[in-house]
Amino acid sequence: MQSSRREILAATAALGAFMAAPPARAAAPQAGQQAPAFYRYKVGSIEITVVNDGVSRMPITDDFVGNASKSDVNAALEASFLEKDFYAGPYNPIIVNTGAKLALVDTGTGETGFQSSKGLNGRLLLNLAAAGFDVKDIDAVIISHYHGDHINGLLKADNSLAFPNAEILVPAQEHKFWMDDGEMSRATKPRVVFGFKNVRRLMTPDILKRVRTYDWDKEVIPGVTAIATPGHTPGHTSHVVASGNSKVYVQADVTHAPFLFARHPEWHFMLDVDPVAAEATRRKVYDMLVAERMLVQGFHYPFPAVGHVEKSGSGYREVLVNWNPTI
Ligand SMILES: [Zn+2]
Repeated sequence: MQSSRREILAATAALGAFMAAPPARAAAPQAGQQAPAFYRYKVGSIEITVVNDGVSRMPITDDFVGNASKSDVNAALEASFLEKDFYAGPYNPIIVNTGAKLALVDTGTGETGFQSSKGLNGRLLLNLAAAGFDVKDIDAVIISHYHGDHINGLLKADNSLAFPNAEILVPAQEHKFWMDDGEMSRATKPRVVFGFKNVRRLMTPDILKRVRTYDWDKEVIPGVTAIATPGHTPGHTSHVVASGNSKVYVQADVTHAPFLFARHPEWHFMLDVDPVAAEATRRKVYDMLVAERMLVQGFHYPFPAVGHVEKSGSGYREVLVNWNPTI
C-alpha cells in the first residue's frame, strides 16, 4: 500500500511536470522528397536490383482504353483506391548482375524525361548512383521494346551515351520493324508515327555502333533468355532470368500497370500497336504465371515491381513481395 501510494504521488508529480513543460522547440522541416528507390533480390546466384525511374502521370483520355469507356477506367482506378482521371504509371528498370556480366534491362525516360517531367521520371541515373552503380561498369543494356520509356535513357540530355561501355542488345524483330522505312511510311496511328520519330531520333551513329540484335528463345547473356511477347509492339520481348532452381519472368509491358491491365486483360491499351495480339499474349503469359506460381518483374508495376499473380474474377491480381531487408 505504502509503496503504491508513493508511486501514485511520483506519477502525479511527473504528470504535473509534463503538463507544465515548455512547448517543444520548432518542428523539424519536412523532407519534401522521396528516398532513393532501389530493391535487391537473388535469383539463384544472380543478384537483381530494381532501380526505379519514377512514374508518368497522364490524364485518362477517351481513347486511353480502346474497348472500355473513361468511366470504366475510373471505376477500376477507384477500386484500387487511386485518384480518378489520372494514370500514374510506374517505371522500373532492373540491373542483372550475373557475377560475370552487369546488365541493365530497359532505361526509363532519361535525362530529357527528367527535365520535361520536372523529376517525376527519368530518375534512373540518380537511383543507380544511390544504389552504388557506376554507369561505366555496365556491360550491356538489354532492351525489351522501342517505346520511349524503355529506350530514351540510352542518351543523356547532350546526346552522349548514358552507358558508354555497354553493348546495346535489342530484339531483332523490334529493330527491324522500327527501322523499316516502309513500315514508317505506312504508320497511321499518331502514337505509332510518334514512336517512329522517337526511335529515329535516338538511333544516333554512336548508338547504332553499339547495337547488337538478339533472337527469341535464345540467351541474350548467360542466364537471361529472350521470350517472344509481341502485340504491345511487333517485337516486344520479355526475359526469363534463371539460375539454379530459381527464375523470374521479366515481363516488360505484357501488361501496363497491373491495377488496370492485369485486372482487365481484355482491355486494349492505347499504346498497344496490335491490341488483339497484345491481349492474346497477355492471357497466355498470365495463365502461365498463375499455373507455375512464377515470380514476375513488371516494368510498370508499383515499386519494387516484383511479385506473383493469381486469378481474380475475370482477370488477375498481383501480390507484391514482402520487403526483405536481407538479400
Ligand atoms: Zn512501357
